[in-house]
Amino acid sequence: MSESLWFEATAEERELLQAVRGYLKERVIPTADARDREGKFPFEIVRELAELGVFGLMVPEAYGGLGLPARTAMQIIEAIGYADGALGLTVASHNSLATGHVLLAGSEAQKAYFLPKMASGEWLGAWGLTEPGSGSDAAALATRAEATADGWVLNGSKQFITQGSVAGTYVVMARTDPAPEGKKHLGISAFVFEAGAKGLRIGRKEDKLGLRASDTAQLIFEDLHLPKDALLGERGRGFYDVLQVLDGGRVGIAALSVGIGRAALDLAARYSVERKAFGRAIAEFEGISFKLAQMATELEAARLLYLKAAALKDAGRPYTMAAAQAKLFASEAAVRAADQAIQILGGYGYVMDYPAQRYWRDARLMEIGEGTSEILRLVIAKKLLETL
Ligand SMILES: Cc1cc2nc3c(=O)[nH]c(=O)nc-3n(C[C@H](O)[C@H](O)[C@H](O)COP(=O)(O)OP(=O)(O)OC[C@H]3O[C@@H](n4cnc5c(N)ncnc54)[C@H](O)[C@@H]3O)c2cc1C
Repeated sequence: MSESLWFEATAEERELLQAVRGYLKERVIPTADARDREGKFPFEIVRELAELGVFGLMVPEAYGGLGLPARTAMQIIEAIGYADGALGLTVASHNSLATGHVLLAGSEAQKAYFLPKMASGEWLGAWGLTEPGSGSDAAALATRAEATADGWVLNGSKQFITQGSVAGTYVVMARTDPAPEGKKHLGISAFVFEAGAKGLRIGRKEDKLGLRASDTAQLIFEDLHLPKDALLGERGRGFYDVLQVLDGGRVGIAALSVGIGRAALDLAARYSVERKAFGRAIAEFEGISFKLAQMATELEAARLLYLKAAALKDAGRPYTMAAAQAKLFASEAAVRAADQAIQILGGYGYVMDYPAQRYWRDARLMEIGEGTSEILRLVIAKKLLETL
């Protein structure tokens, strides 16, 4: 894994990156195929990774996190994605979505209560926006939260929630107030609560194409009673926070995509110097080496895009467009890289003995989750046209 010139890490951050990469090389890379086959959530690996601090990447040290800038945090997500895409999604979504939302909008009391347990990995975070009837059109959500004398009562359901069945902390969005005509993003609020809340039922666990060792489940709220202080952020304006949380999440998915794409590239490059055809290593055919050159160039460009978005975030500058561009380009580059890796491995790319097919299956989600490629093109075009 080469480092980009953009990356100006402190000595301490470099040491951390090295420690994480060392752990991944020894414990995670050799076992990723087995986890993919079994499709079970890797509690033990998650516990070990938690000891390295990766569940509190951007959480300030005062709350038990590593307090890293996004630039460094995203490089760690890339490294985990390189080792195992499913684990990469677990870490990326935990840090960016549920933890990111509490960091962004939480009261001091909520931060003090939830963040230390989330940063230590004791409570994994699940973030519920998507519903059976609303994904891209997220503000069309149907979950309702009714205000009562002593708190809130939630009814509805959430679909495809990462860490849905294994989380300790849940952040979910619900409609608390009617939407003014034509403004359905208003009247939505966020709530934060612990696992085991009465009225929270875990529904179906999804059987997925890829990222099979990550947990994806349905959440069902049946008169879920929450206290008043479960409200996260301002009542009725939660959707503005959702959009900011998604900006951060998209940079994480871009970094994860680069990790998966680079794993595919490394596999294909190594294979191409070993495999012989017509008396030569296939890497000596331009038809193959040009594919490798294209993959390497696209993935490096993708890396620079996610580092740019992370650097803007660190500088406190707007980065919605940069995050959307990074995720759009990186996810599509990763899918292309994994697809070409299959081609370079020929028949061996199509069988389960080699991980080329896993990289493709894992990368494919990157074009869907946290804003599909179509939605990201809409975001980018809107931002672009706003500047005219
Ligand atoms: C493994 C996995 C993990 C996930 N984790 C989470 C999670 O932790 N939390 C969470 O809240 N959600 C999660 N999701 C949900 C994910 O974010 C949604 O699946 C995604 O946003 C797309 O929504 P949808 O599936 O409802 O598709 P739809 O929105 O129904 O889209 C279907 C198709 O129509 C296209 N489309 C929709 N609107 C437009 C438009 N205006 N213009 C052009 N094309 C359009 C889409 O791009 C897509 O191709 C996860 C999904 C998966 C598969």
